[in-house]
Amino acid sequence: MESVRDRMTSSRILIIGAGWAGISAAHSLMLAGVPGEQIVMLERAPRAGGRAFSFTDKEQGLDLDNGQHVLLGCCDQFVQLLGDMNIANAYRFQPSLNIPVYCEGAWGQLFSKRLTGALHLLPGLLSYAHLGMLDRVRALRAAPGFLHPDVEALDAMSFGDWLRKNGQTERTIGRLWDLVGTAVLNGHVDQISAGLAAESFRMGVVAGWQQARLGLFTRPLGDLADDAVSHLQRRGVTVRFNTAVDSLLFEGNQVMGARLRDGQNWVADTVISAVPHDALWRMLPDVWQRHADFQGLQKLAWSPILNAFILYDRPVTQHDVFASTQLGGMFVFNRAALVGEDHLDGRWLSISISAADRYRALSHDEIGAMVQKAIAEALPEARDANVEHCKVVWQPRATFLASPGTAGKRLNPTSAAQGLLIAGDWTNTGWPASLEGAVRSGQAAVEAWLRGGRKQPDLPMTS
Ligand SMILES: Cc1cc2nc3c(=O)[nH]c(=O)nc-3n(C[C@H](O)[C@H](O)[C@H](O)COP(=O)(O)OP(=O)(O)OC[C@H]3O[C@@H](n4cnc5c(N)ncnc54)[C@H](O)[C@@H]3O)c2cc1C
Repeated sequence: MESVRDRMTSSRILIIGAGWAGISAAHSLMLAGVPGEQIVMLERAPRAGGRAFSFTDKEQGLDLDNGQHVLLGCCDQFVQLLGDMNIANAYRFQPSLNIPVYCEGAWGQLFSKRLTGALHLLPGLLSYAHLGMLDRVRALRAAPGFLHPDVEALDAMSFGDWLRKNGQTERTIGRLWDLVGTAVLNGHVDQISAGLAAESFRMGVVAGWQQARLGLFTRPLGDLADDAVSHLQRRGVTVRFNTAVDSLLFEGNQVMGARLRDGQNWVADTVISAVPHDALWRMLPDVWQRHADFQGLQKLAWSPILNAFILYDRPVTQHDVFASTQLGGMFVFNRAALVGEDHLDGRWLSISISAADRYRALSHDEIGAMVQKAIAEALPEARDANVEHCKVVWQPRATFLASPGTAGKRLNPTSAAQGLLIAGDWTNTGWPASLEGAVRSGQAAVEAWLRGGRKQPDLPMTS
């Protein structure tokens, strides 16, 4: 049998995947003093950025993202990474959270004030027009549950059950918790873990007004990843695009490198997997697929996100962003205003619908028509406007579904596989699937490597 040492190439550290987890891992390695020349990234796609990618719409020549991404003020590691890499003008934060909300013919507002701790939410919740006073008070009463959630204990329960147990009515759930929760966790309240939901609300909403600020991207996402990769390359990192890894190479419990789809072997001292959970599963040899440490991989499911880009012949909105309870919850962005295409301000919208399973069977034309109808209902200016272009981007594998019991399915950076470190938004970061979670996972993998943290070798097989 061919030895993995009959190789074409080698490097000290091999990173598989040039999404934000892989980019973060490479950056963290260099912060730890590893010379860039010892790091190689292999990326299947022709461009970096993974699930946060951009493309140019052929018909209009507009730069589109696969999905309009947002940040919250709590996403400090992603922001720090962009800063470290001198990636400028990438986003802007609202001075404080301020999202107009459309619901059944009326407008309300979710906002925060610069008040200490969780108090920042008080004025906004007490005046939230889409709830009656009693429901607003009930919503406030639920807030202490987010201050110190017992994440592990709550993980078995759905967020919906937890909200009902805490006195929330279906109206409050639909008009408040589900609207926000679905955008953050990409799952509706009855689909997602109360533990991860409560922890996400704690970090991103309740902790303070700074953490709750909404960050809006002002450049195409793919450009940011391109800049990040250029930064790494200038410091000696080799990045190979259009290079798919077929499988990880093992000798006993030790990962020796990776076999590429073109049949070449790539030997490395350490391999950092920064690919999605199912991609890691496919790279594992059978015996390791059966190993207890990797069982979570098969149990994680995907949740889809739907985006529609609509170009109107005239301005239809002045908002940078608004939310709506229509179509199971959607967020509407004035993309032109955000990315500085001033001549299209108010005309070119990006509409994002998270946890969009219910629209899976519809064609792009049907989805486009459905979203246009919803926009026309919310925005009177859109009723008489003509749609010049409508593009639907369907991402069936947008994020892992944070279903109840998820915590036990997310892998840690280390396992019984020696020499393998595992990163990706789906790993055990304590964060929902997000750019921030991806960046933190890359850092966690490198921290584990620095600690020399390995599980003791054991027999890799379970039946
Ligand atoms: C439509 C949409 C909207 C979103 N909105 C938000 C948002 O508003 N805010 C937010 O924070 N997050 C959002 N997310 C989530 C965010 O994009 C992801 O959490 C993050 O990009 C994941 O990064 P990652 O590096 O862990 O994985 P990925 O981005 O998936 O990167 C993995 C990389 O590995 C590569 N790869 C896979 N298999 C192989 C192989 N065999 N060989 C070589 N390379 C391989 C892939 O091509 C990819 O580049 C959204 C995602 C989508 C899809």
